[in-house]
Amino acid sequence: MRVGLLDLDQHDPDGVREIVEHLGLDLPILHGRGTPRTAERWLQQLPATIIETFIDCDLLLVQLGADPHVEDELGAGWLDDEQLRRRDRAVFKTCRAIGLPVCWNLAGGYQHDADGTIRPVLNVHDASLQECSEVWL
Ligand SMILES: [Zn+2]
Repeated sequence: MRVGLLDLDQHDPDGVREIVEHLGLDLPILHGRGTPRTAERWLQQLPATIIETFIDCDLLLVQLGADPHVEDELGAGWLDDEQLRRRDRAVFKTCRAIGLPVCWNLAGGYQHDADGTIRPVLNVHDASLQECSEVWL
């Protein structure tokens, strides 16, 4: 079984890369990161990039980070709410279209609202689940 990793968290998957390299695994890793200026082009290319990188995989692990949000307190975010939703939709639709099973998890996210809650992060995560449900259920 060949597994791939699509890491869409703002943080670089350097720890995973070290493990994969140390163990000598054949595990393709794609990390998505850009700027607000490159976001639309990246979103347009995402389906083709997924297919090109993971077509030979039997399972795709996906990190759906909320910290790429433009208002995330981590900084350097590059996607707004709608773009994050489109990111997730593209992942699920593309994988379904090519018959690639997905195991995804929520990741990252450091926003707070005026009351100090993490509702903005949960909104991003809720959108991920909604997109997954619309595509797979
Ligand atoms: Zn992160």
